[in-house]
This record gives sequence, C-alpha cells and structure tokens, in this order.
Amino acid sequence: LMELTKKLLEIQTILKSVEIDDQTGSTDRDGRHSNALRLPSIVVIGSQSSGKSSVLEAIVGQEFLPKGNNMVTRRPIELTLVNTPHSEDEYGEFPQLGLDRIDDFRRIQRTLYDLNMSVPDSECVSDKPIELRIYSPHVPDLRLVDLPGYIQVVNRKQPPILRQKIRDLCEGYLKQPNIILAVCAADVDLANSEALKASRRNDPMGVRTIGVITKVDTTEPDTAVHMLTQNDYPLHLGYIGVVCKPVKEKVGRSSHDILLSEAQYFGRHSEFQGPGVQVGVGTLRRKLVRVLEESMRRSLSSLVDAVRSELEETRYQIKVQYNDERISPESYVAESLDALKQRFKAFQQQFGKPQLRAEVQRWLESQVMNVCAELYWSNPGISGLSNHVTRSRAAGWWTDVRTKAGKAASAMTSVISELLAADTTKEHKGPRLSKPHGADNEQFGSNSDSNTGNSRSKGGHTADNEWDEEDDVYWNHQLDRASALLTKSGVGRWTTQMVVDLLMENVTSMVDVEPFMHHPDSRAAVLNFSNAILRSKYHPTVDQVENTIKPFKYEVEIEPHEWKKAQKRSGTLIENEIRLCRQAMLKIRSSTPKKQLQQAIQFVKSAEKRGLDPIAVQTELARRNAEHSVDSDMGAQPKPDSATGTESGSSMLLALDATDGKAGDSSDSLEELGYAHFNPYLLRRAQQALMIQDRLAILHMRKKALSSSTCALLENKRLCPEVFLDVVAEKLAYNVVLFINYELLQDFFFQFPRELDSHLYYGKTLEQTREFASQNPRIGKHLTLLERRQKLELVMTRLQELVRQQVASEQYHGRGRNN
Ligand code: GDP
Repeated sequence: LMELTKKLLEIQTILKSVEIDDQTGSTDRDGRHSNALRLPSIVVIGSQSSGKSSVLEAIVGQEFLPKGNNMVTRRPIELTLVNTPHSEDEYGEFPQLGLDRIDDFRRIQRTLYDLNMSVPDSECVSDKPIELRIYSPHVPDLRLVDLPGYIQVVNRKQPPILRQKIRDLCEGYLKQPNIILAVCAADVDLANSEALKASRRNDPMGVRTIGVITKVDTTEPDTAVHMLTQNDYPLHLGYIGVVCKPVKEKVGRSSHDILLSEAQYFGRHSEFQGPGVQVGVGTLRRKLVRVLEESMRRSLSSLVDAVRSELEETRYQIKVQYNDERISPESYVAESLDALKQRFKAFQQQFGKPQLRAEVQRWLESQVMNVCAELYWSNPGISGLSNHVTRSRAAGWWTDVRTKAGKAASAMTSVISELLAADTTKEHKGPRLSKPHGADNEQFGSNSDSNTGNSRSKGGHTADNEWDEEDDVYWNHQLDRASALLTKSGVGRWTTQMVVDLLMENVTSMVDVEPFMHHPDSRAAVLNFSNAILRSKYHPTVDQVENTIKPFKYEVEIEPHEWKKAQKRSGTLIENEIRLCRQAMLKIRSSTPKKQLQQAIQFVKSAEKRGLDPIAVQTELARRNAEHSVDSDMGAQPKPDSATGTESGSSMLLALDATDGKAGDSSDSLEELGYAHFNPYLLRRAQQALMIQDRLAILHMRKKALSSSTCALLENKRLCPEVFLDVVAEKLAYNVVLFINYELLQDFFFQFPRELDSHLYYGKTLEQTREFASQNPRIGKHLTLLERRQKLELVMTRLQELVRQQVASEQYHGRGRNN
C-alpha cells in the first residue's frame, strides 16, 4: 500500500485552504470546491435510526456524534480521519472554527450538536457542511460524509417539504466519484431501504456502493446471512453485516444474559462463517480503505488536470490583472510607509522657515487689521485723523459714515467672513478674519467700547481740521493701546496653535489618500501620535515665543528703512481689505434683486437716521397693517390711534410717528416704505451693504492717508497706525518664527518618521501585517491570488510526485506478474 489516500487527503487539505475566487467560477454557491478539485469521499446514507451513527462511531472507535430524536444531523459532516502512527494522541479539529485541537470527544460531540442546532427548526437542514478532522493511531486514513438521515414519516412539527430537502441534499453528495455507504437495518426489509433506493438512482450499476446491514443481531442469523448474500439488490462491492452494540444472549444453560461483543457474536454463530459472507466492523473498515484508495487512484489523473487548469487560470489572472507584479504583505506595508514618509518629506521640504514665516506673518497681519478696525476704522475721529494727514479740507463728505462705536468693527469682520464663507475655504481660512476668543477677546471688545465713547467728542471737532495738542496726545495714547492689543493678545498661543493646526491638517491630508485611506486604524494611529508629539511641544513653544516677544510689549525700536517698507506693505494690506469688502458687496448684489435692495437700503437708512432698529420697525408696521385690514376697509392708510392701543412696540411707534412728523418728508415716509414688506433677510442684506459701503469709504480714506508724505516719516507714527502696527507685526513674526521653527517644527519633522516606524512597522506579527495588507481591496485580492498560485504550485508538485510513484509501482508490480 502506498498510502495514496493519506497523501491525497493532505493535498485536499491544502486545496481546501485555497480561497477560490467566485469570479473564476470554480466554486459552487457554498464556496465548496468544484467537483473537479474534489477527491472521492465515502458518503454515508441511511434512514433515521438505521444505525448510521453507530457504524461511523465503530469505524472511528470513539463516541462523538450527537444523539437524539430531534433531527440532530442537520448539516453534512465532512469527516476526515487521519492516521497518526507515531503518536498515541487522539483528538479532533474543526478547521472552520479555528479552534485548537480537542482531546475530549464529548466536547467534539457537543460542538457538533451546537453546529447542527445552529440551523433553525424552520429550515431543518442546511447544505453548509461541518468540517471535522479526527487524528488517531487507531483510525485509517479516510474521508467520510455523514448526511442527515432519510425520514420515512414526517413528524407533525416538521414541514412536509423536509423529506424532499433531505433527499436533494444527499443527492448532491451521491455523485461520482464518491463511494456510497448504504446503511440498512437488518430488521427492515431491504425493499424498503431508502439508502438502497438512493444508491440505485445515482449508481444504477452498483459499482461504487457498499451495502451495510446493521443490527444483524436483531434477526435470526439465517435471515441475516440471506440478506448479506441475496442477489435481489446486487452490489458489486457487496454487503457487510455489523453489530455495533453489545448483544445480550443466553449462554448455555445459565438463566441470565451475558453481553457479547461483535466478534463474539459472529464467532458464536457458524452461519456467518460461510463463503461469501462478510461481517464485522473490521472487515468494513478494511474494505472502505481499499475501495477509497482504488477510487483515489482512479481520480488522480483528473485531479491533476483540474489542478493544472486552476493553476493556469490563476497565473493568467495574475498576469492580466496585476502584470505579474510581485508583492507580499511585508512589501506592501513597507511601501505604504515609504509612500507616507516620502509625502512627509516633500511637505517638510516645502514647509521650511520661509513658509512658516509667511503663515505667521499672514496671521499677524490679520490681527493688525482687526486692531485697526477696532481702534481706528470705527472711531468717529478717523476722518479727522485722515484729513489731518492728507491736509484735506473736505471734511463734510464722510459725515454720512456711521461709525457706530464698538459694534462696527467686529460686526464687519463677521459680515465679511459670512458673506465670503464659500470663498474662504483655502485662502482666508484659519485665523484670518476670525478673532481670537477666550480671555484676550475681552480686551478687544470692552476696551474699544468705552474708549471710542470718549473719543467721539474728539473726533467731532477734529473733523473741522482744528488739530491741536490734545489730538496728538489722544492719538499717541491710541497707538499705545493698539500696540498693546497686538503684542499682548496671546501671540505665542495663537501662532503656535496655528502652526499645530496647519501641521495636523497636512498630516491628515497625507493619510486621507492612497494607501492609508484603506487603513482606518493605521490612519488613526498616525493622527494620534502626530497629535501627541505636537501636544508635548505646545506649551514649551508658547512659553518660548512669549518670552522672546516680551520686549516688544514695552518698546518697539524702529529703523527708518523698516518704516519705509512697512509703509508700502500697509498700503497693500488696505488694498486687500478693500478687495475683500468689494467681494462681499458683490456677493450681496448678486444674491439680491437690485431694486428691492435699493428700497431696503433706503428704508434702513431712514430708520437708522431716526435711531430705530429697521427690523423691529418693519415687524411693527407689518403687524399694524394686518390689524387694519381686519378692522376696516380703510385701505393702506394705518390709523395712528389704534396703534397707540397696542403694548408692544407702541412706544417705538410713537417715537416713529413723532420723528416722522418732525421730518415732514412724505416721500421718505417710513410707513410707505414699510408696506413694501421687506423680509428680514433683505433687511439684513441692506444693513450689511451699508456697513460695507461705510467701511469702504474709510478704507479709501486710509489708503490715501497712508501713501501720503506724512506717513513716510517715522515720527508721524501716531498718525499712521497701520504702518506702525505693521512694523510691530513684522518684528514679532521674525521672533515667533525663530522659536516655533526650533521648538516645534524641527522636532516634529525629526520625530514623525520615527514614530511612524515604531507604530506601524516594528513588532508587527505576520498576522497583523497580512491583515493590514488585505484592508486594501486591490492588494487583498492580489495577495489572495498569489497565495492561491503558491498553494496550487505546491499541490501540483506533490501530485506529480505521486503520479511518478504510481507509475513506478505499477511497473514494478507489472514486472513481478510477468516474471
Ligand atoms: P442513526 O439514527 O441511523 O444514526 O442510528 P443510531 O446509530 O443512532 O442507532 C439507532 C438505534 O439503533 C440506537 O438506539 C442504537 O442503539 C441502535 N443500534 C445501533 N446499532 C445496533 C446494533 O448493532 N444492534 C442493536 N440491537 N441495536 C443497534
């Protein structure tokens, strides 16, 4: 015996582990191998209670099958027996469950029971096989399939279709090249045997069916022998009689029964020793081994063909889909990390000190603009200041400008950023236009409120160009405040945070694309450790930066050439501000019908001239109008007396009526405008448009002032705050960059690649590496194909070796016979 079965069963194990791609069409719907790749098995069929389980257990020599009346075999059990001649251990394995070996056969029994019972009662049977391997020195190498027993009588709880379902399930297994083990109980007429009927349907010539007559002890030996040797249902491989339960028999004249083993029973009845009578589990086992080996031998060449064509197909797919590219999970991990490192390096190269400087400067400039807006552009004295610088006498033209103290600057900032929200995604994101929040903000808001309050009177008379010493004192003081606002507003914290955000943003964009987009856990790990590095650097950096800029909080020394440069830059900044305002204005115009907007602007102006909130006026007018159309048919003319009767808004309307009367301008009547029914959205847009208009007027004025010869001189810094603040910002930026670069950036650039390796590369198990690789669908598929090719190649080599041995042994035996 050349152990063909054993070797082929080993090969089958490899083939089973080859994951077969559905698209190749070589799997059936359960993921089982196509018939071509399957080796013959011995399929055990029989009616319920025919003794099927007992026979299987007798072959294995262990009790391991679930017992019970309630249909305990609901799924096929594909049982592989592996003979282990060099070990005494007996154990089982469920390869599908990935469990360790199970030495306790009662646990195997329980597991089988659970696996069967996982099929719900409503379905009764399932064609998903349970795989079980049993290793033992006492079992032969065999492959058996236990199937649900045929049922004769459908139980009340079982669906009538069940009988057919079981039949269909069994039928699938009864095809070539499988060997059929038809189990029939001796106490049932063979003519009624479901097993024999099924066998005849699939193996009409009876060449691959072995008949097993169980419970031979339940009938007279004569009858049993007749069954075993009958020719009514001829089977080429014959019938074997077995007894799988100790037999109680009276021995001699003793009055009590003793228990006989199978061998003792057959030994005691000479009928079974006759010619052509095959009995005993041992005989059955030997027969199974021989028949299976024979069948394996016959299947060998077709298996070789099938494996070869699978292999060719796999190679072809690797060629067309992956151009024969070589990869492994390890190489993929290394490449992924490399790709990320490269990207990081590229970022590192294009984000050096100059870029950092540009970012910090941009942020500081936006702060300068905020401070100017707070302390200057919304200061009623701004016109006087500007005119003094440009020596312009035309003071009257801007009296319309509503420098509403406090409100204007911050409102403007949010108005513009809201209007340009869609456009600000890249260019103006981050700190630009968004004011620092938290404690520092207090400084911005409250201070300006109280101070612009007392500067109002100042601005009032400077508008007439009567510049005096008091003005100089005031604007000098204002400049100190502005400088303090800029230097003490937490520059260290904000710039460091800005750089941290920027770095995180860039790292995120690096892991949001191939290949890390396929690896959510690794992506998260990268973001986590990046965050951790930056967090650990944050506070030291902030402290360092704050320390270095401390001197500027008290005094700023400026060289004339620095001033000159700043003068130019501040002009550009103002122009930029003008551009933003224009864009915002365009946004309003393009989203609002022209005529309606004009009317709304008129309305807002009239309301505000009277010191009223246009939206509240609108609401009240609409309410009053509605009341009137219900009250009477007086048309569109509202009746003042009825309005006075209402509580809400009545005082306001009294004021409104009063001012209306005073103004006496019927064409500009608020009531008339009110009936146009502006919606709140339109009114808001009108208010915004007016704000922007005013801001534009101021900005133009400032632009003119800043480019004047007065502002070219350093000693006039109190008159040209934008230039002064820009110099300060420039100096701050220089120092801030120095330390952020040193404390934060360089360290981050150094640590990132190292952290990357230690988190994603070192200490990874093979399993983890493989899991990582297969998270990427394309790589996963590629690896599966490569693995499949490798396994098929291994199988092919082994098969060729087997064929060679086969040929050699045939030649040897052939020669032996010839001699
Ligand atoms: P299955 O339903 O086809 O798997 O049948 P089982 O193996 O569970 O056996 C059904 C019944 O027949 C059980 O009660 C067994 O104890 C009994 N049985 C099995 N083999 C023999 C045998 O050789 N002799 C006798 N007398 N009873 C047996």
